[in-house]
Amino acid sequence: MRKLAFAVSLALGSVAAHAATVYTGDKVQGVPVISQLDIADLAPGKTHRFMFQGTTDGIGQHFYVPVVVAKGAKAGPKLVLNSGNHGDEVNGIRAVQKVMAGLDAAKLSGTVVAVTGSNPNSINRVTREWATYNDGGASTNFNRVFPGKEKGTAPEQHAWLMWNKLWQGNVDYVLDFHTQSTGTDFPFFIYADYRDPRIERIAELFPADQIKKDPGEKGSTETTFVDNKIPAVTLELGSPRKYDKDMIDRGVEGTRNVMVDLKMIDGKIGRTAKTAKTFVGNDMTTVRAEQGGYAEILVKLGDMVKKDQVVARQLNVFGDTVKEYKAPADGKVLSTGTDAVREPRATLVRLLIQNPDAQCAKGC
Ligand SMILES: [Zn+2]
Repeated sequence: MRKLAFAVSLALGSVAAHAATVYTGDKVQGVPVISQLDIADLAPGKTHRFMFQGTTDGIGQHFYVPVVVAKGAKAGPKLVLNSGNHGDEVNGIRAVQKVMAGLDAAKLSGTVVAVTGSNPNSINRVTREWATYNDGGASTNFNRVFPGKEKGTAPEQHAWLMWNKLWQGNVDYVLDFHTQSTGTDFPFFIYADYRDPRIERIAELFPADQIKKDPGEKGSTETTFVDNKIPAVTLELGSPRKYDKDMIDRGVEGTRNVMVDLKMIDGKIGRTAKTAKTFVGNDMTTVRAEQGGYAEILVKLGDMVKKDQVVARQLNVFGDTVKEYKAPADGKVLSTGTDAVREPRATLVRLLIQNPDAQCAKGC
């Protein structure tokens, strides 16, 4: 297959923006390994499984990213579903697996490229950050290094490979699946850049609890695509580490809604932001621990709180209250700390706010 790919790339010559799918000749768990994807040369009307060859670890072995491509029998949009940038966020991985299991490529218009675990380094350790070992070790937020660096650190190289060899040329729309981090909770929540009406439309096709109109986060998969004029949202499917059926089901339903809306599949639009009465905010503020200590959180996800309402307190080792925390503004509880032991700067309560400042109309 490697020879074939080489021949095809020679035949296309310099006019080909994206050479070909490159098969390394290896298999992992019976699945062919690729170092580059071009959906144009895959058989239509079929679903294809690959292991995408990522960066290398300290002994020179590759990290492999599982990829499922449903290539429709008919032409249409190219939709990327990404999951697993953070290794302790598993609902999104399951939602993407379920979306793909429910797709019939023979009836699909367009192509879905699904990544069911982009960051094996972290998923394998049930940890948010990519661990590197140079000079005693460090940890890197993989969702802040896109589009990566060809000659960077392992996570930077991995992001560069995904950006350049997996996604380039294969993408018109992106859904990036996450949850909140270990030690904290989210409802079904979406970061969406409302400056692009296409992104607003996608976000509101999900039956989320809360949406933030959001200008983005540099280096995230979402924002890197948005900066390249490709609509993308970050979907936060609840809490980390464990499967939550309601969150997974809503993630699948919203994704199918997007595919119906893009005319990739037939079907009816299910629950959306409209039917779920999603709370849409344009700003947020986080009440963080100013010192270490046990934390009691006095509000729940989705509660409406008033400015100056006491939302959390911290206790010393004898159980005495040593610090009280008040809401800095009116808002809806977007996230709460779930680990009782809290170091300085830990999230206690995050509020989603409807900020009347005109400058925040599309998100602050
Ligand atoms: Zn995440």
